[in-house]
Amino acid sequence: MNSADIRSSFLDFFTERGHRLFPSAPLVPHGDPTLLFTNAGMVPFKNAFLGLETPEDRRAVSAQRVLRVSGKHNDLENVGPSPRHHTFFEMLGNFSFGDYFKEDAIRFAWELVTKVWGLPPARLFATVFEQDDEAEALWRGLSTLPAERIIRCGAKDNFWAMGETGPCGPCSEIFVDLEPQRPEVSFEQGSDSGRYLEIWNLVFMQYQREEGGALAPLPNPSIDTGAGLERTSSVLQGVSSNYDTDLFRPILEAAATLAGIRYGMRAANGKWANSESDTSLRVIADHLRAVSFLLADGVIPGNEGRGYVLRRILRRAVRHGMRIGFEEPFLHRLVPVLGEVLGHAYPELGATRMASVAAIQAEEEKFLSTVASGARQVQEEVERLRSQGKTTLPGAMVFRLYDTYGLPIEVIREIAEEERFGVDEEGFRHALEGQREQSRKATKEVQNRLLALREELRGHADMPETRFEGWDATTLEGAGVARLAAFRDGDPLRVSELKAGESGVAVLDQTVFYAEGGGEVGDTGWILWDGGKAHVTDTRKDNSGIFFHFIDVERGTLSRHQKVDLKVDFDRRQAIESNHTATHLLHAALRQVVGQSARQAGSLVAPDRLRFDFTYHRGLLEPEVQRVEDLVNEWIRRAVPTDFRFRSYQEAVAAGAMALFGEKYGDTVRTVEVQGLSTELCGGCHVNNSGEIGLFLIESERGIASGVRRIEAVTGAGALAAVRAQRIAYDGLIETLGIKSADPAQQRERAGQLKTRMAELENEVKKLRLQLVSGGGKSGPAAADDETIDVLGVKVLAREVPHAPADDLRAMADALRAKLGSGVVILGARGDGNVSLIAAVTKDLVERVKAGELVKKLSGVIGGRGGGRPDFAQAGGKQPENLPAALAAAGDAVREQLGG
Ligand code: ATP
Ligand code: MG
Repeated sequence: MNSADIRSSFLDFFTERGHRLFPSAPLVPHGDPTLLFTNAGMVPFKNAFLGLETPEDRRAVSAQRVLRVSGKHNDLENVGPSPRHHTFFEMLGNFSFGDYFKEDAIRFAWELVTKVWGLPPARLFATVFEQDDEAEALWRGLSTLPAERIIRCGAKDNFWAMGETGPCGPCSEIFVDLEPQRPEVSFEQGSDSGRYLEIWNLVFMQYQREEGGALAPLPNPSIDTGAGLERTSSVLQGVSSNYDTDLFRPILEAAATLAGIRYGMRAANGKWANSESDTSLRVIADHLRAVSFLLADGVIPGNEGRGYVLRRILRRAVRHGMRIGFEEPFLHRLVPVLGEVLGHAYPELGATRMASVAAIQAEEEKFLSTVASGARQVQEEVERLRSQGKTTLPGAMVFRLYDTYGLPIEVIREIAEEERFGVDEEGFRHALEGQREQSRKATKEVQNRLLALREELRGHADMPETRFEGWDATTLEGAGVARLAAFRDGDPLRVSELKAGESGVAVLDQTVFYAEGGGEVGDTGWILWDGGKAHVTDTRKDNSGIFFHFIDVERGTLSRHQKVDLKVDFDRRQAIESNHTATHLLHAALRQVVGQSARQAGSLVAPDRLRFDFTYHRGLLEPEVQRVEDLVNEWIRRAVPTDFRFRSYQEAVAAGAMALFGEKYGDTVRTVEVQGLSTELCGGCHVNNSGEIGLFLIESERGIASGVRRIEAVTGAGALAAVRAQRIAYDGLIETLGIKSADPAQQRERAGQLKTRMAELENEVKKLRLQLVSGGGKSGPAAADDETIDVLGVKVLAREVPHAPADDLRAMADALRAKLGSGVVILGARGDGNVSLIAAVTKDLVERVKAGELVKKLSGVIGGRGGGRPDFAQAGGKQPENLPAALAAAGDAVREQLGG
């Protein structure tokens, strides 16, 4: 069986048994700020397990892409050495939301493993939690496993929990003997050595863990299972490592060929040798998958959060590439091979391929040059420290190299090791933690605020979702105030009323205020009641669907359980709707102009502008930008009606809806259709007819990261205002320059003439200034000589000159110095509130008189400071009124230096 067959056999087996098939959700979990990446098949169903959502079907099946590189599941360091751990892998899972429980879960698993996959029962083991008699009895009754192959294990491996509190329960894992021909060993020995391999984990969600640790039985126990596709494939394909399956072999071979080496050299005894180069090749193959899928799911390499993880994985692959001899970017060249292996199962890989290749290549280049220059820096530091008799790199310095130059700590360690130098790991960690803590605080603030709000407001009673009525309306009468909160020292506090002058948060039973989401900003407006009024300054919602209205009470008192009227700021909402629909049209136009590979990576819909980020491997050309702008405006002029509908996700996609990054595969979705032009899954606010947008203007198109572009645009009244502002600015300019003409070409020509004329004049002025100070207009050096004084046989010329740019002052000093032949020139020029001073000394005198010293001394007089070379120096000061005194002191200053 190839891996594609194994994947579909699992999905088919469970769909035949009444499970609804869900496509893999992206690696970036939707609406879950607590989790960096989808790390298990159950993640997209978390709300169903938590009881926050009631799914339409109570049985589900999926092949979910997952990433285990952070938090609770972090297998990063294992990747390479381990034949069965990956960062990125596919988890096959069946789920029951309060439907079937242990019995069916075990029955299904046993049937699939032994009948469909045909694994002989003699090769299998099942583990159960040590206190789970029920599971053990079920295995005995439902399988043909002998009693000694049903193993009881402790909580470490066989008790699963969603978090500190929440759903949890015992697990049961299925193990396969990889070497059945050899004599059996104890389960412990076999599983530790890797001979007995875990392929499938069945989690029985049975309890709810309360604060304090007490376990309460769940009313509707659930099932969550996960089988790794890679491990299962290795077993069913009879190979000794996941990397020898059809999922990895083509990638490993392509990488080896590029590097000019071979994967899987056999050692003398005929066994697979685990050579260092094999380890590096495995890391590269694994990380290629992780990096490509992260990019396909819209993550952009960066310095924090998900982008930082992506960058780290990519860099780890490059470092291993360097170990096997790559000196040039190589990883991006493997992307097409991955496409051949997984492209059929994951069309998103193909859609983003060009952008991914560009992004990976750019990152590789950047990193290789960082390493080259960073390594040099480490080397220098090592030499410096060694000369001081030291043998360790201090933590703060390591952190600086790591943080400012982006040099990976591993590279620093490697160099230090080669130089027999230590690294102050403790100090480094300390510095790192300090910085992480800071960024954590900053990024979590908003979500934390909402979480804290919900905690505070929810109390003990349940708080229902807020009903949103704002898609077709901007006013609503008779909404009920469900909860109120005020902020005390930044923390939310439940209150029963908010008085005039107070600020806080209101939760209503229904609302017309849109809460920030899907790129669209939250609504503002007013809450009105008899004798009272509150200004809504923002609207947010948390991931359980409760809307928070941030309000300032302006008049009267707002109390809980009161009935209120709602009024969204209509003009602002209208502008937002116009921008939102325009964003959809822009997306459609873009795909028409540059192709399907331009993929949305994020958007912002505000009242005054819209922003659309997309992945594409190059910048748009001017005609392409114009074509996109033209298309959108054409569609606006066509005045096409928009259509909103709720339907099942499957139906929506079948109808051509563009499923976007981060959308959730929930039961019912809302589609927004601009008839015949664009269909998207979207929960946002839109105009009823494209004609309402009026006008669409692209303000800019630029790159914001490698492989990611950003378009900013304005619409409707905003676009008109932008055009008008431009026109006013333009007219003003023409007026000021005095180049008005009915013919624009003539205007440009006149402006050009003005510019040339100005340059000529500037040159002229410069020449005149020089002549003025150096007396070049007369014949001979007489002009300078008039003011030259003699100081112990040295000619000193100190003079004030008219204000001029620094360059000109230097040129004057130069000219005068040349004129003197031998001597010292000191020039001062007063500007507006400042003064500059320049000293120049002829070559023959620099041993005796230092320009730098002179300037240092004289700059004190003008309230400034300065310095420079022995033959030339300058200073600036803030006391122009003292310039004459400074110039008068010049002679004495020279005398002092001459020792007089
Ligand atoms: P292990 O103890 O072997 O690391 P686990 O207990 O962490 O595995 P689970 O969280 O139970 O694994 O995940 C369910 C299944 O996913 C496992 O039975 C295995 O088939 C697969 N799996 C888990 N981690 C990895 C990984 N890093 N790479 C590949 N497959 C994995
Ligand atoms: Mg496990």
